Amino acid sequence: MTSAMTQQFASDNYAGVCPPALQSFLAANASGHEQAYGDDKWTEQVCERMRELFQTDCEVFFVFNGTAANSLSLASLCQSYHSVICSELAHIETDECGGPEFFSHGSKLLTAKTDNGKLTPDAIDAIVRKRSDVHFPKPRVVSITQSTECGTVYSVEEVRAIATMAKRHHLSVHMDGARFANAVAALNVHPSEITWRAGVDVLCFGGTKNGLPVGEAVVFFDKHLAREFEYRVKQAGQLASKMRFISAPWLGLIDNDVWIRNAAHANQMAALLHSLIQSAAGLKVLFEPQANAVFVELPLPVIDALRGKGWKFYTFIGAGGCRLMCSWDTLEATVRTFAADIVALCNQHQPTEL
Ligand SMILES: *Cc1c(COP(=O)(O)O)cnc(C)c1O
Repeated sequence: MTSAMTQQFASDNYAGVCPPALQSFLAANASGHEQAYGDDKWTEQVCERMRELFQTDCEVFFVFNGTAANSLSLASLCQSYHSVICSELAHIETDECGGPEFFSHGSKLLTAKTDNGKLTPDAIDAIVRKRSDVHFPKPRVVSITQSTECGTVYSVEEVRAIATMAKRHHLSVHMDGARFANAVAALNVHPSEITWRAGVDVLCFGGTKNGLPVGEAVVFFDKHLAREFEYRVKQAGQLASKMRFISAPWLGLIDNDVWIRNAAHANQMAALLHSLIQSAAGLKVLFEPQANAVFVELPLPVIDALRGKGWKFYTFIGAGGCRLMCSWDTLEATVRTFAADIVALCNQHQPTEL
């Protein structure tokens, strides 16, 4: 089992595979020969379970990672002369190496400034209204991340309001749900309430950060938009020949709501971390922690000293900005040890008052 000493706060993809997903993986291996490329009984079963989960007749596809899920789904919503409205902090803008633009053959991302990673209806409206001439890439999609890159969560009402504004301008709604589970757990709502019932057309449903070995699901609630999607997946090198090993582990997540429990645990660990460190000397909480991340600003010597003790975490959000991420298996003991180190180092590195 995982020991507290080896756990880190850099990313939820540092964690391994959760036992139920691993069991499903092994069960899929024990079932003998199966048809390839997704024509197997495991994949069929998982797609059926996803339709039950979302309480609607959606189309489900599996790809290896989130970059492919986002890039390929956006490409299927856009022509090359279209554009996608998103937050300037969106993963599709900052962390996919131009994948969405590449797979859509040029659809441009139009970014909006946000305070906490959340796009607003007004920001969407302003971008759409700015230009409508033939010289500007025509807005076609709104993309939101749930939970966001800042560890915040859109409420049901916020998703609805964004989708309403999107529909007013004839835009499709894409949701990057690399941490969808954390949002569902945080809001304690049915997954349909923040997706198709709120107006979301396509969800990239993250499994990796929730406890799968690999693999994300692309869920088209508007089945019309899924037309020929299997060809995009294949051409992009994202069609697993032994598909059952990508799909079957999802059964372990879906059965008994393991995906919600994994996410709720990660969220709780982030809440605990936040409560333990929030009043440390010189520490500033950057965003309200609503999911499984805590963002804080720390004095640079404290960051260096934490790294010196072997702690790993990302500092990609400007000087002193740290992202502390909890996962499905983060132990309370790890959180307490890490928090104690942070508090002690903050005290030690306080500017001396004269
Ligand atoms: C992790 C993540 C993804 C997926 O990234 P891959 O490394 O391509 O799997 C997508 N969106 C967000 C917001 C993420 O945090």
